Amino acid sequence: MINIPKGTKDVLPSDVYKWHYFEKCASEIADAYNLREIRTPVFEHTELFLRGVGDTTDVVNKEMYTFEDKGGRSITLKPEGTAGVARSFIENGMYNEAMPCKMYYFSPVFRYERPQAGRLREHHQFGVEIYGGKDADTDAEVILIAYDMLTKLGLSVELNINSMGCKNCKAEYNKALKQYLGGHLNEMCDTCKVRFEKNPLRILDCKEEGCRKITADAPAITDYLCDDCRGHFNDLKRYLNVAGLDYKVNPHIVRGLDYYTRTVFEFITTSLGAQGTVCGGGRYDGLIETLGGNPTCGVGFGMGIERILLLAEAVGADIPKAKPVKLYIASMGDAAFDKAFELATALRRKGVKAEIDHMRRSVKAQFKYADKIQAEYVAVIGDDELNSNEVQLKKMSDGSTESIKIDEIVKYFIEGER
Ligand SMILES: [Zn+2]
Ligand SMILES: [Zn+2]
Repeated sequence: MINIPKGTKDVLPSDVYKWHYFEKCASEIADAYNLREIRTPVFEHTELFLRGVGDTTDVVNKEMYTFEDKGGRSITLKPEGTAGVARSFIENGMYNEAMPCKMYYFSPVFRYERPQAGRLREHHQFGVEIYGGKDADTDAEVILIAYDMLTKLGLSVELNINSMGCKNCKAEYNKALKQYLGGHLNEMCDTCKVRFEKNPLRILDCKEEGCRKITADAPAITDYLCDDCRGHFNDLKRYLNVAGLDYKVNPHIVRGLDYYTRTVFEFITTSLGAQGTVCGGGRYDGLIETLGGNPTCGVGFGMGIERILLLAEAVGADIPKAKPVKLYIASMGDAAFDKAFELATALRRKGVKAEIDHMRRSVKAQFKYADKIQAEYVAVIGDDELNSNEVQLKKMSDGSTESIKIDEIVKYFIEGER
């Protein structure tokens, strides 16, 4: 008996309708905003994430699935969705096409984390990337896509926004932050002591109680923004107001990845009383250049599909199930089975979901099965029916029956739009 690897999960046939619904809603919303889907490989050269995500982040330091392939290359299973899309954007010269370049993706992402409730080593993300729009209307648009998606799935969410500024204001802020944190170095966790030297901003992200107490009173980056960045942040607020979207400015949102500039945002769910981030994203104007492309700005987000589906279910979101079998054709005897096989094939080729007995069961057992799969109609064919070319069609929801010619069954289901 071989078990599923720790931290991974099957999506079973009985549950997959939820994923289909998620993907359908996400694609429709993305399409309305004029985004197109992109699909990039599950693994990339490790270097892409070292350069793109940043080598002081937890994701890159501790959580990547990195291995050497048989050609001696260092390969990493993607720990997030943005870097691969950025690599593809550059490699395929998409900046020569119509800009802005607006894309979305569904992708598995891999992080070697200690498995715990709701944290998987492989999970799936719906993400959005827009390249080329430098002003805050693009940021607002990305935020709106996430909002539309989350609310479509029945979640109540609260939008938190912040600005990380540009290189210049980040440097100013880093100085102020370091000065403040320097006075509390002894009270911080070991990881944060390292972060203090390498990237003090990360300390604002720390989940340790002691560190959180210290960062509660830390200076806020929004007080250190340069004129351009402040203008950009004010524009963002204006566009959100125009769209009628409430927000809260939260200077502690810095996101876990190094590439963000200016806008960062998180949606916190207020459903179920439990607070938690369900989607995060922001602007990363330096990323494309860092990865060797022409300077091109970008904004995007990622949301974990598993987590959102769990929440959607918990709040009782109305997720439509897959359509049941339209017609189950039960049969008695070989000649009748051949006829059932022929009819089912004809129906299927016209797009009508039809099923027959593949297990050679008794009629009683076939009815039981039809019940189990919730078939809408059942017809039983035996020698009598073959001789008379007549069959009783039973509507399972109310038990009513009607007589119908066997050679008119296909027409009945196609033209009747049943
Ligand atoms: Zn700035
Ligand atoms: Zn810490």
